[in-house]
Amino acid sequence: MSGGEGSSRSQEQAPTPSRYESQKRRDWNTFGQYLRNQRPPVPLSQCKCSHVLDFLRYLDQFGKTKVHIQGCIFYGQPEPPAPCTCPLRQAWGSLDALIGRLRAAYEENGGAPETNPFAGGLIRVYLKEVKECQAKARGIPHRKKKKKVPLPGSPALSDVRAPQKRSEVFWDRCEAWPLKGPS
Ligand SMILES: [Zn+2]
Repeated sequence: MSGGEGSSRSQEQAPTPSRYESQKRRDWNTFGQYLRNQRPPVPLSQCKCSHVLDFLRYLDQFGKTKVHIQGCIFYGQPEPPAPCTCPLRQAWGSLDALIGRLRAAYEENGGAPETNPFAGGLIRVYLKEVKECQAKARGIPHRKKKKKVPLPGSPALSDVRAPQKRSEVFWDRCEAWPLKGPS
């Protein structure tokens, strides 16, 4: 997918991988481990969207992002003045970037794009829900784009176009808050 596979160079002197590449490899190993630890173990060839979703939920226990539940008095506050007992979760941006890396890794490891479980619609829906839920819980304003100069006479609709296709650039950009949500 990323080219560069034409000539088989000697593996001994492989260049140090980029941060993205090494992170991707770590993620891929973690996911493989997760599948092997299932009862019964799930072979990669049978990995479905549902396994990926379970994996994302499983990761939440290692999250570091406070996401207030709806009954919390700090619900919707970006900077609460005191601690609360709400759970820590994986931030949406992290999950989104993770899925992007795993999706690429799946195909680099021989998976067919048509069966790529990381590219499934259910994953997109899940991520979207997490994003909206976290934005509300943490008081992240949806509209925080600054340099939007509307053309004179342009209608007030859609100030930002949705990305037309989910390229890797898109995944990279999604890593940072604040996020522009669909209005
Ligand atoms: Zn709370």
